[in-house]
Amino acid sequence: MKIAILSRRPQLYSTRRLVEAAKARGHTVRVIDTLRCYMNISSHHPSIHYRGESLDGFDVVIPRIGASITFYGAAVLRQFEMMGVPTLNSSLALTRSRDKLRSFQLFSKRGIGLPVTGFADSPDDIDDLIQLVGGPPLVIKLVEGTQGIGVVLAETKQAASSVIEAFLGMKAHIMIQEYIKESNGADIRCFVIDNKVVAAMRRQATPGEFRSNLHRGGKATLVKITPEERAMAIRAVKIMGLNIAGVDMLRSDRGPLIMEVNSSPGLKGIEHATEKDVATAIILCCEKYAKKTKRNYRLKG
Ligand code: ADP
Ligand code: MG
Repeated sequence: MKIAILSRRPQLYSTRRLVEAAKARGHTVRVIDTLRCYMNISSHHPSIHYRGESLDGFDVVIPRIGASITFYGAAVLRQFEMMGVPTLNSSLALTRSRDKLRSFQLFSKRGIGLPVTGFADSPDDIDDLIQLVGGPPLVIKLVEGTQGIGVVLAETKQAASSVIEAFLGMKAHIMIQEYIKESNGADIRCFVIDNKVVAAMRRQATPGEFRSNLHRGGKATLVKITPEERAMAIRAVKIMGLNIAGVDMLRSDRGPLIMEVNSSPGLKGIEHATEKDVATAIILCCEKYAKKTKRNYRLKG
């Protein structure tokens, strides 16, 4: 097969591992810088151009699209779809999962366990919203944030109102969440490929920190997940419509609670913590998916 990996950083561990795994399975693979793709969408023959050449003949595209380029990245991915090239995660599923508000609304409708969460736009409604989510301590999050940046723990009502006021004053989109104290600064990342959890790790925050993100100094170890956690991770990914995803959940007194579903999950942390070959599992999924999709491809907007 001819595989395209959409990634801005060929030297990144995840990209390198995917290239390595694809080659080991006998495929031709090319890393394409998402932001250097340009497109002709005016003709009947959609095309993508890259550094002066037309990108043709790919059997499947693996998107590795960072949160900061979701809009353009989704457009490039959609263009491949318009050309009839299967994309491992579709542009629609990618945009759906990147919008935390939208994902939470879909999860809540389908009865997925979630921390009690509120959204607001107007500072006038802060007091009521704080009440609505059960009062302090609360976690306040920037909807567009990643890697733990923009996630704040407010222990008192005053702290919560000032942080919310400041964020809303900056016209940021925020969500206000019940603080799951009993998770003790740890969360579980389930790596889901083709409706199966292929690897899972527990991330523990450094002492004095509640955010377990590896970028914030969190430490990852192998974890055995419960059947309930496994089933919930798979369901969440299905609801998002993704073929591969990283599902983050908190262990609470009332069972697993989903925090987010990441459509371009990193491979470094999970492969090191679990010693599993996740990259090859992704390539195997590509092989199956490309074959299945080529036969009955439908254009989706
Ligand atoms: P990001 O997208 O920036 O990673 P998250 O929503 O995943 O934001 O939050 C970052 C980390 O903060 C989580 O991995 C978790 O350890 C901690 N955290 C987030 N929300 C809560 C919460 N409601 N209760 C307890 N800990 C939380
Ligand atoms: Mg996170």
